[in-house]
Amino acid sequence: MTDQCKEFCQKLSDYLDGRLEENVCVLIEQHLEVCPPCGLMYESLRTAVEICRKGVTDDIPEEMARELKTYLRAHCRGSDH
Ligand SMILES: [Zn+2]
Repeated sequence: MTDQCKEFCQKLSDYLDGRLEENVCVLIEQHLEVCPPCGLMYESLRTAVEICRKGVTDDIPEEMARELKTYLRAHCRGSDH
């Protein structure tokens, strides 16, 4: 568990929404490259966000949201590191 992972978890949704400064985006992208668990989480979340944007559904599917939350919590706590 690193501070970078914690920061990554906190900023991921803002990153996907394009609400972050460019220099913060770079930090996140760098972290994705060195931390496979965060990379996996990013991929899942991005897929969920894309589904929402396409208007396939109004919300992230419940099952996916639950999985992501579980994963996010576990990873932020560092229990899978
Ligand atoms: Zn990480």
